[in-house]
Amino acid sequence: MLRIAIQKSGRLHDDSIGLLKDAGIGFSNGYGRLRTESYNFPVEIFFLRDDDIPEYVSDGVADIGIVGENIVLEKSKTVDTVTRLGFGKCRLCIAVPKNAEYNGVHSLQNRRIATSYPHILGQYLAKNDITATLHDISGSVEIAPSIGLADAICDLVSSGSTLLMNGLREVETILKSEALLIAAPGLSAEKMAILQQLTFRFDALLLAKKHKYILMNVPNDQIAHISGLLPGMRSPTIMPLAEAGWSSLHTVVAENEFWPIIEQLKAAGAEGILVTSIEKMIL
Ligand code: ATP
Ligand code: ZN
Repeated sequence: MLRIAIQKSGRLHDDSIGLLKDAGIGFSNGYGRLRTESYNFPVEIFFLRDDDIPEYVSDGVADIGIVGENIVLEKSKTVDTVTRLGFGKCRLCIAVPKNAEYNGVHSLQNRRIATSYPHILGQYLAKNDITATLHDISGSVEIAPSIGLADAICDLVSSGSTLLMNGLREVETILKSEALLIAAPGLSAEKMAILQQLTFRFDALLLAKKHKYILMNVPNDQIAHISGLLPGMRSPTIMPLAEAGWSSLHTVVAENEFWPIIEQLKAAGAEGILVTSIEKMIL
């Protein structure tokens, strides 16, 4: 049995549950439950505050956990990173009041900075030879400058709208974070085997998210040319259409490779181009 810690509620909760369910792990997550066992896979799930997950994992109370890299680095507990999970993306930024003068990190010298990330920020300032006074506050960091508590803040940002609303402007990014799958060092062979089965499934889901399945109708005399334009995993599948002289071409491409070639595909005579998402992908 592998014990996995995930966020009880908050920004990582739904994606963590979704990842486990998409990986075929069945469990009931009735509201307010603190732990639950899967009925079809040897895992037990603990629902915890995200801040506590690195400690539970490093102490071996949980074997693995899903938590933001920002929390893992801030808590600096001994845990192994198994996989980056591609959700919960945000950045840890320094922001100053929008009209404040700022000419680079040295502008922070002897300033007061409010943050919930004193450890990461302290390391960043030390690396840049800056001495500043850190105010460690646990929430609503963005109001600190307007109430006179600090000259700058260091906080998580995703779209930046909260900063804007509070009259702040982002001046430094000190970390780009996403959810990580972390594990306790030195898991038993039995637990490692379960973790490997789990990461195999997660990898299939993550790879699928980064790819698209594309289908298009192509004139037969353009098959070779169009196939050459496609950066697919392998050579495409070609199937004859009922209409003479035409074929249906299917392939898989990385999502970021698709848009740049669409115009060329159309110019080469491809029609009825369909792009669909892939649920799971195993190479
Ligand atoms: P908990 O009650 O579990 O302590 P919390 O309020 O500390 O929750 P959330 O706001 O739910 O935490 O954020 C959880 C994680 O989601 C963050 O640590 C971070 O990794 C990620 N995240 C993604 N985008 C953002 C964002 N815009 N602001 C804050 N966190 C974000
Ligand atoms: Zn938290």
